[in-house]
Amino acid sequence: MHLRLEHHQVAQLLRHTASMAPQEACGLLGGKGGKARRIVSIDNVAAKPSQRYEMDAPQLVRALFEFEREGLELCAIWHSHPEGKPLPSAEDIRTAAWPDVCQLIVGFANGKAELGAWRIASGEANRVPLQIGSSAPDLLPEEETGQQRLAIWASAAVAVILALWLALTLLPPAPKFP
Ligand SMILES: [Zn+2]
Repeated sequence: MHLRLEHHQVAQLLRHTASMAPQEACGLLGGKGGKARRIVSIDNVAAKPSQRYEMDAPQLVRALFEFEREGLELCAIWHSHPEGKPLPSAEDIRTAAWPDVCQLIVGFANGKAELGAWRIASGEANRVPLQIGSSAPDLLPEEETGQQRLAIWASAAVAVILALWLALTLLPPAPKFP
């Protein structure tokens, strides 16, 4: 899982979320293969919108239908922390509903804008690589280091040994000959 945004999209997101402060802003990113194409903003209907967010359900459904019609995937769910870091709060982790969709958080701790992309599943948040801009080198996989190559070979070997072991343990017992 990864997420890629263009500089102008980041600027748009920062402008909008900053303008909504002190309320948390929220919405969706539609795109393809983790690359954002559309930023949709959705009303935050939480009872205390400066402390948490809850997307307006009809707007959410409409946005999802629009993505479907435009052939876009749901790339990310985004929201802002007007005074916090771009880290998922305990509430964000508890209420995360889509484990396969990236969660993008725009943080403004100490007035400094920062983005964080996360995958939240089974009560755990893990950082997702976030690329900003379309410079070609971002698209190229990083060259494997010797150590990474070794780790890949080692895990491949372990997989083969496991598969063999499984095959052997699952074999029916050898027929008994008189
Ligand atoms: Zn949050």
